[in-house]
Amino acid sequence: MDTTVFEDTPQHVSTGDLPKWGHVESLVQETMGLCRDDATGQVADYIPVLADTDPDLFGIALVSPHGRFYDAGDAQHPFSIQSVSKMFVYALAIHEHGHGLVRDIVGVNNTGLPFNSVMALELNAGHPMNPMVNAGAIATTALVAGETPEEKWETIRSGLSEFAGRELEVDEDVFLSEMATNHRNRALARLLVSYARLRPDADAMVEVYTRQCSLRVTAHDLAVMGATLASGGVNPVTGRRVVSADVCRDTLAVVAANGLYEQSGEWLFEIGLPAKSGVSGGIVAVAPGKGAAAAFSPRLDHAGNSVRAQHAIGHLSRVMGMNMFASAPQSGDVQEARW
Ligand code: GLU
Repeated sequence: MDTTVFEDTPQHVSTGDLPKWGHVESLVQETMGLCRDDATGQVADYIPVLADTDPDLFGIALVSPHGRFYDAGDAQHPFSIQSVSKMFVYALAIHEHGHGLVRDIVGVNNTGLPFNSVMALELNAGHPMNPMVNAGAIATTALVAGETPEEKWETIRSGLSEFAGRELEVDEDVFLSEMATNHRNRALARLLVSYARLRPDADAMVEVYTRQCSLRVTAHDLAVMGATLASGGVNPVTGRRVVSADVCRDTLAVVAANGLYEQSGEWLFEIGLPAKSGVSGGIVAVAPGKGAAAAFSPRLDHAGNSVRAQHAIGHLSRVMGMNMFASAPQSGDVQEARW
């Protein structure tokens, strides 16, 4: 599609509101109760240290565009951000280069294949396809501001900290555990180099990417980070602008198409929200203009998405009216059509 035709058209914004805050709090509690006893799924163990995670941890956090928040269960329990980092690093890359260049280099289309697929790269002449799978995420990490790997890391650490509204730190155990076992990500990065889609410093980029995945967050942090994308790029807790409203819109579109790996279409169909998951068990979903919901629960389904976090956010999306595709007739006098 030739997107230049839209260039001179101003973008108007129209969303809606969450229910009244007291009701929001009781809906989050209701959701905790509904999902608490579900013990299906497996904790990720391909990063050895993650296998030690307590599988019963479960937390939900909700943040409004006005910075109101509600935390339930283990919403303050720290875990490594893993793939959820990809959406915020993507925002930093678009901030640096603009929408078009990042779209052309990294892509926006779903691969339909697992997050660490080598085949997806080979089938597409080394094109990473989108920033939410590992190959695209490593290519995206290489695009953030900074000449050296150290400068790029500082952009990511400080940028994601601004999204969270506090200084985030690396979980060194997780970082070292993944660095000792991430042969597949190194292979993906080298394939990107072989297709001239990444500069030759592949190993250094994988190291920065692995560090970004090891940043320690809580479900509360993820909800604040998501609420920043729901609020035109201004962190609703700190009041600081992190990225522009255009960067948020572009980021959320790509997250909607790709955030839950090869299950993204099904998620969008059922829940109707851009959401990103990670293998440590976190998911954040963003309702533009309305706020963000995050959940953390380490047991995952076969695609690597947290089982309880999907159920919790799915339930909240329905009862709080967050599905972006749902509408109701505005006129009270409705006749049934015959057909
Ligand atoms: N650091 C993990 C990896 O690259 C992230 C995967 C994920 O959360 O999906 O394998």
